[in-house]
Amino acid sequence: MLSDNILRVKGQISSVCSKLKRDPASVIIVAVSKNRTAVQIKEAVASGIRDIGENRVQEAVLKFKELSAVDYRPSTIKWHMVGHLQTNKVKEAVRIFDLIHSVDSIRLALEIDRQAAVINKIQDILVEVRTSPEESKFGLKADEATEVMKEIAQLKNIKIKGLMTIAPMVDDPEKARPYFKALRELRNKICELWAMDYGLWTLSMGMTDDFEVAIEEGSTMVRVGRAIFD
Ligand SMILES: *Cc1c(COP(=O)(O)O)cnc(C)c1O
Repeated sequence: MLSDNILRVKGQISSVCSKLKRDPASVIIVAVSKNRTAVQIKEAVASGIRDIGENRVQEAVLKFKELSAVDYRPSTIKWHMVGHLQTNKVKEAVRIFDLIHSVDSIRLALEIDRQAAVINKIQDILVEVRTSPEESKFGLKADEATEVMKEIAQLKNIKIKGLMTIAPMVDDPEKARPYFKALRELRNKICELWAMDYGLWTLSMGMTDDFEVAIEEGSTMVRVGRAIFD
């Protein structure tokens, strides 16, 4: 049952956090509902989920509308775009998503800024970093991220809230640890450079197979699909 799954994930997060002496509430669970139905999202929300993740704009728009139509209150729910975002989908994306996790170019950021300005919105974003260069197509390389972020930070209708990474598929979650560590170190470096409190920065990392390791490495937002919906 979905509600049991959610309880189990929350339990796992609590036990990692208690070892780390961290408040479990400092880890946000984004329930990634790609390929799942609006009914399943409703069930997840009924079981206490407040953050919904989608990876395709078109699919998200349909579910968003469906849920908005049935006396659902999207204002209490945050919608997250976790997948790769194409510039021609930005217009719709800024209308529904509270947080876009996958900003990986100035070109994309400029379009988000432009479309957000049209609707008078400050769009919260995360910058996606490719911590495993050989294995993923999307995301900025760590060594170019700082420069690009400096430019994005100038845009008036965008607010950078932190960083996101997708670790490669591995057979043992321990093998994902270096990628999570790399993202945390990059965050620390950028926050030092910008004289910012890194406690305020989101680190979106960890999925079904590796979220516990990601939390040990400082994740503040885990994106969990199968462990919740299967
Ligand atoms: C699908 C997806 C997830 C969730 O993956 P699970 O392994 O099902 O937990 C997380 N992040 C992104 C970007 C995804 O596309």
